Amino acid sequence: MAKPAPDLMERIVSLCKRRGFVFQSSDIYGGFSSCYDYGPLGVELKRNVKDAWWQSMVTGRDDIVGLDSAIIQHPEVWKSSGHLEGFHDMMVDCKECKGRFREDHLEDRNKCPNCGAEGMFTEARAFNLMFKTFAGPVESTASAVFLRPETAQGIFTNFLNVVNSSRVKPPFGIAQIGKSFRNEITPGNFVFRTREFEQMEMEYFIPPGEDDKWYEYWIQQRFDWYVGLGVRPEKLRKRAHADDELAHYSTGCTDVEYRFPWGFDELEGIAKRGCFDLTQHSKGAGKDLSFFDEATKERYIPHVVEPAAGCDRTAMTFLVDAYEEEVIPNEKTGKEDVRTVLRFHPKIAPITVAVFPLVKKEGMPDKAREIVAALQDVGLRTFYDEKGAIGRRYRRQDEVGTPWCVTVDGDTLADGTVTVRDRDSMTQERIAADEIVGSLKQRVADWKRG
Ligand code: ATP
Repeated sequence: MAKPAPDLMERIVSLCKRRGFVFQSSDIYGGFSSCYDYGPLGVELKRNVKDAWWQSMVTGRDDIVGLDSAIIQHPEVWKSSGHLEGFHDMMVDCKECKGRFREDHLEDRNKCPNCGAEGMFTEARAFNLMFKTFAGPVESTASAVFLRPETAQGIFTNFLNVVNSSRVKPPFGIAQIGKSFRNEITPGNFVFRTREFEQMEMEYFIPPGEDDKWYEYWIQQRFDWYVGLGVRPEKLRKRAHADDELAHYSTGCTDVEYRFPWGFDELEGIAKRGCFDLTQHSKGAGKDLSFFDEATKERYIPHVVEPAAGCDRTAMTFLVDAYEEEVIPNEKTGKEDVRTVLRFHPKIAPITVAVFPLVKKEGMPDKAREIVAALQDVGLRTFYDEKGAIGRRYRRQDEVGTPWCVTVDGDTLADGTVTVRDRDSMTQERIAADEIVGSLKQRVADWKRG
């Protein structure tokens, strides 16, 4: 039975720190606000998110190729893309408490959400979100460069390189995962909005006129991706942008949103970008970025549909969605216990299987280590633990979302069987130790959210 907690986010943030998912950055210096570091389990979680995305976007299909472009690019890129002129948020200050807010995030544009003062906001001012720095030893206007605020532009500027080197033809995509930087006015909600974050973006280049077809296709694909990795569909929704929300280049955008403890919020945007970006870079760079179709003898500037997701937001979604506090009977005391469990999809869980010798003697650790080696050999993320009561070891794994625990006990040495304990049902099953690899691979493939 799930027990919703009023301070759910606090509990998740505390679990993240306690168990090594996410730490406040520069912790020993008192922390640096809204910057976070991923710990031993968090880095595995995030890697799984990226691997699953890459598999669904690149390696699992034959119409999309990958790219890894530089964070610092030619400053003209940002002029052509419109970021220099237009990538800003409108910001207001409260004259009473000096609080600073993003105007479009204010529920009430009259009353300060911080101090309650009414009619005390300054006029809204445009605030460019790009981080500026200098390339080389001289700090001058000529050496000013920007940290990329999105990965997409590196894809557009490499369009010709990819077309000329990779035998691709529309419809085809270029996908990229990497860090982006935005000097957000109000970062917050843990890793949901930070100034340094990772994006997973794909630009799908299509013949003009096919925009709506591919737009609908990618909205559905991306929605299904989250569901396929175990996110509860009833917590997800698609939200089409109203006309006044659309970016200047876009003729349509739909967000995939998740219902976080503070309400629905964006995980990913799927946008129709038309031929805006390639046209702009053609003009800015003076290069022809059209595509010539050998079959139809037509030349055109491809249109683009872009699914742009945030890796940190996705990792956080998996955490929030998987988190459960379950009331279970304690057989020893006859009372009730609360079990904290992360019901991650096995492809997302930082550890797939934990292996325990029941006790640290009678050859059990050696047998357990043998099983660990066999599991690691086939790429299953494995964790070995020989300390403490077995029940406590199971609970520790529940709390970090390990789907299965394998225990080597006295019977293993006698009849060659081990116990497989299931995180979700907490049931235990004996199977032959030499079938463990096949059995666990099958369990990963068959897993369904209960
Ligand atoms: P928002 O309206 O929340 O500021 P956006 O619409 O500007 O986001 P996009 O430019 O569409 O965001 O970026 C694509 C994705 O990158 C977002 O859906 C989100 O997952 C991620 N993202 C954007 N900004 C941040 C941030 N500051 N921190 C973490 N992830 C972010």
